[in-house]
Amino acid sequence: MSLTPIKQLLQSAEIGQTVTVKGWVRTKRESKNAIFIAINDGSTIHTIQAVTEPGRFSEDVIRLVTTGACVAITGTMVESQGSGQRVEVQATDIHVYGPADPDKYPLQPKKHSLEFLREIAHLRPRTNTFSAVLRIRHALAFAVHKYFNDNGFYYLHTPIITASDAEGAGEMFRVTTLDLNNLPRTEEGAIDYKQDFFGREANLTVSGQLEGELGALALSKIYTFGPTFRAENSNTTRHLAEFWMIEPEMAFYELEDNMNLAEDFLKYLVGYALENCIDDLKFLESRLIDEEKAKPQAERSPMPLLEKLRFVHENEFERVTYTEAIDILLKSKPHKEKKFQYPVGWGVDLQSEHERFLVEKHFKKPVILTNYPREIKSFYMKQDEDSSAAPGPTVRAMDVLFPGIGEIIGGSQREDNYEKLLARVHEVGIDPANIWWFLETRQFGSAPHSGFGLGFERLILFVTGMGNIRDVIPFPRTPKSADF
Ligand code: ATP
Ligand code: MN
Repeated sequence: MSLTPIKQLLQSAEIGQTVTVKGWVRTKRESKNAIFIAINDGSTIHTIQAVTEPGRFSEDVIRLVTTGACVAITGTMVESQGSGQRVEVQATDIHVYGPADPDKYPLQPKKHSLEFLREIAHLRPRTNTFSAVLRIRHALAFAVHKYFNDNGFYYLHTPIITASDAEGAGEMFRVTTLDLNNLPRTEEGAIDYKQDFFGREANLTVSGQLEGELGALALSKIYTFGPTFRAENSNTTRHLAEFWMIEPEMAFYELEDNMNLAEDFLKYLVGYALENCIDDLKFLESRLIDEEKAKPQAERSPMPLLEKLRFVHENEFERVTYTEAIDILLKSKPHKEKKFQYPVGWGVDLQSEHERFLVEKHFKKPVILTNYPREIKSFYMKQDEDSSAAPGPTVRAMDVLFPGIGEIIGGSQREDNYEKLLARVHEVGIDPANIWWFLETRQFGSAPHSGFGLGFERLILFVTGMGNIRDVIPFPRTPKSADF
């Protein structure tokens, strides 16, 4: 049997046509002359309305048609008498697949807080807000693959279990099959990982980059898009323990090419959402406008959602070096008035408050910060030639900062010189034996190359205007929380 999604029925069903609608009841309204049932099947933010008159169906059936129940309604498409919809279904048959006890079903038609909805993550996809977010998430995942495919990149599947802990020391989730109550020990009393599944310590990946580089040094342009795990105990609105990261890696790209790609890619994704998700974006925009009314003026966002997306889509990102950014921060009002919580000075790692000042107050547009101090960035970033422009050694790093989000992309040109890379590996205390394969690519056909990581949920946060990263992934994993 072919079933037409509600989205399509609302757009193109013809008057007089017999249709079957399957979905979940959002509301039922009974008046003297008519019963109105609003049904949603997740294909669109909109509901379709089924209408019948009292007495046409048995009391027993109508009683089961309540908010949350799953139904199949067959009927004739008619022009709607009410406002708000073009067509409605004059019901000739109602079947209830699954009732939802109105005394127990938690999603009654009223406003629910996002906090409450997190506690019922098994049902929240049935709300307007979450179904909109999930549809946008889908569209953007598709757009990621489309962009790269259209631009000659190959999708490389990098491993989820890794034994190279070069990147995330301390932030990694351990993978083991050892009996935690009876750990094998070496003669010295240390845990004997030789007896573990992989014969060595293993973890969940914090980034596919190192393996991504191996792909780029053969296929020229690759990307990864997969789950990424960080055991960072930072309970922020921008960090998850399990998130999805997109990491392109390109041979023959230098820092500037990398920036151009990052900017073009982000604009493409925002444009894709504007073109393909407009109903959902409009819904989320009106939701935000309602929410903002409750906030003090100073905390309200200066632009409605769609305007903000168009602004990013149409305007050049500002490109600034870290050194210039520190100067701006040192001269800034919040610094002079000691309003920043964290110190500012050349060499410090920028905090979210600094990034957001630069983006939201100073430049008022997305910013790409480059050439960070070597000491605060990863060992694999390409070292800059010494120059008088910066007070200390810098690397060819770039972070893309977005309004309301802070860092959305982190990337760099990679160190392709074997001696320099090896020296850095020693300096930061990584055992070269752990990443011998990574180092070897700099001995066999090394090439200038660059790449970056885009946190998929940070992108979704930006595009949907949602305030908490827990609300843009179906089943969030955060400290002390992995239900559902
Ligand atoms: P932050 O300083 O915000 O923690 P980071 O410097 O650790 O980010 P990278 O290691 O450069 O980030 O990772 C690349 C991208 O992955 C980031 O720009 C961000 O979009 C995303 N990201 C990083 N950590 C998380 C996380 N815990 N949850 C969701 N997204 C993340
Ligand atoms: Mn981090």
